[in-house]
Amino acid sequence: MNKNYFDIEEYIHRVRSFHGYEAPGVVIGGFMVHLAKTQISEGVLFDAISETPACLPDAIQLLTPCTVGNGWLKIINLGRFALSLYDKHHGNGFRVFLAPGKLEKWPEIKDWFFKLKSRKEQGHEDILSQIKRAGLEICGVSPVQIKPEFLKKRDKGKIAICPSCKEAYPLQDGSTCRACQGNSPYI
Ligand SMILES: [Zn+2]
Repeated sequence: MNKNYFDIEEYIHRVRSFHGYEAPGVVIGGFMVHLAKTQISEGVLFDAISETPACLPDAIQLLTPCTVGNGWLKIINLGRFALSLYDKHHGNGFRVFLAPGKLEKWPEIKDWFFKLKSRKEQGHEDILSQIKRAGLEICGVSPVQIKPEFLKKRDKGKIAICPSCKEAYPLQDGSTCRACQGNSPYI
């Protein structure tokens, strides 16, 4: 199949089962990941960065081998709706973002993206239909080079038993585990 072809209907079908429903952000994310993939040379092993924890990580996990669990997808929360795919050894790659200046033509997408309407006022089908028609048109892409420190493998170092909860944890976290240092979400 032509590598420039993106089957949006098939993708939306997969989004429904993976993400729970066809969220606009994940659907736009599909076009964004597709655009980034078409920039990467054939055969290059790439890693991914999502600049937001919302929606884009799921698009990346659906369309690339990069997942949070295998470590090839990093979420670095910069609060921007953007992602990048880059050569995992050399760090050269491409960053794709949603271009605000290109949204004037697409009022439904703009209202959703800038939260200009309440959820109730938004027509979900109208947003989706504009996203499908806009596709790559609302995305911007630029080459990036990843800082060397972000290319390093995750290394947890030595593992110890926490004296407080008796569970294993990376010793580099301190004399007790991060939960026992007060970071636990549990009451
Ligand atoms: Zn502990």
